[in-house]
Amino acid sequence: TPAVRVREVTHVYGNGSAAVTAVGPIDLTVPAGSVLVLVGASGCGKSTLLRLVAGFERPSTGTVRVAGEPPRPGHSAGLVFQQPRLLPWRSVGGNVALALRYAGVPQQERARRVPELLTRVGLRDVARRRVWEISGGQQQRVALARALAVEHPLLLLDEPFAALDALTRERLQEDFRRVTAETGRTCVFVTHSVDEAVFLGSRVVVLTSRPGRVALDLDIDLPRTGV
Ligand code: ADP
Ligand code: ADP
Repeated sequence: TPAVRVREVTHVYGNGSAAVTAVGPIDLTVPAGSVLVLVGASGCGKSTLLRLVAGFERPSTGTVRVAGEPPRPGHSAGLVFQQPRLLPWRSVGGNVALALRYAGVPQQERARRVPELLTRVGLRDVARRRVWEISGGQQQRVALARALAVEHPLLLLDEPFAALDALTRERLQEDFRRVTAETGRTCVFVTHSVDEAVFLGSRVVVLTSRPGRVALDLDIDLPRTGV
């Protein structure tokens, strides 16, 4: 079973004369373990497609399957957005621990896994700091750790590095590439940056402008040195 299967999907916002076809028709199959990057102009339907895969939207026509099942919002995939949406008054470790707790992971296991996750994203030294005290780049690392915490095989990321300065963004891209190689997590990653797409993706899909349809579907076959 592929990690994600999108079959003849269209998505229309509104109805009647106000109807806007944002996506499709689209067919996409994402094999387990691949990092698919969706790239395209602003407004072309990338976020909508991601929300369809996450289960936050239902397709107007066609079907979406995650590991063979209809997606359940908040349950089928780990999510990372442009803004990290953390609890700012809680500690870095606390934010990650809370995600584990919601997932039903018992305290003893949380205490073991939080430091592990923070080490993976380079945050071990700031585990006790409050989220409001750390930088934007570090906050996005917390969001990544939190998404990795819940062991969904699928990770959905919507422009996670877009709000960061260039240097921080480069560091996070490198670390993200290492983390995906280490964990073998299937990812669907949305960006409007071709550079970012080619650097991170094992496959890059370019969408046409609204409605978003597959214009190009490329396997990226670069030697992944440094991973
Ligand atoms: P992208 O992520 O590529 O910028 P989106 O998926 O956000 O594109 O949007 C695709 C199109 O759908 C855009 O033209 C946008 O204006 C429209 N759209 C997105 N969300 C809504 C909504 N909730 N209601 C109506 N139109 C929407
Ligand atoms: P804090 O007040 O330090 O921010 P929270 O109240 O946010 O901690 O913690 C929420 C939950 O996560 C609590 O059950 C707490 O025991 C646990 N927790 C917090 N930090 C860690 C950590 N570094 N390792 C394991 N569990 C933690």
